[in-house]
Parts: sequence; structure tokens; C-alpha cells
Amino acid sequence: MGLPSQKRTKSSGKRRASHFALAKPVVNKCANCNASILPHHACQKCGFFKGEKKVASKAKLNKK
Ligand SMILES: [Zn+2]
Repeated sequence: MGLPSQKRTKSSGKRRASHFALAKPVVNKCANCNASILPHHACQKCGFFKGEKKVASKAKLNKK
């Protein structure tokens, strides 16, 4: 097994770790019902996408 040729200092390790943070997911608000939605997805609550009803909402599907 290979061994590190030089010691990694605290600062060099921390400099590498500075890129480890996860990006926060982008969350938008539905224009119809104000629920939080993912971009480029229809609203899970009301089924609206770009101001039009595109998908039957989950609440209505469960009733039938
Ligand atoms: Zn909605």
C-alpha cells in the first residue's frame, strides 16, 4: 500500500474540506396554493403547473 509522501497539515485538510458542504435544495412556492414545490414539478397538493391544472391532485385521487 502506498503511503503519503508528505504530512497533510491541518490547514491543507481544512482547505480540502471547505468544498464538502452540501448545497441546499431549491424550493419554490406554488402560485395557486402557496405550498412549497420543487422547480419544474407539478404541485403535489393541487396539481397545478405554470398556473394551469395539469395533474389530478393526490387528495382527489384518494377519495375515488
Ligand atoms: Zn399548489
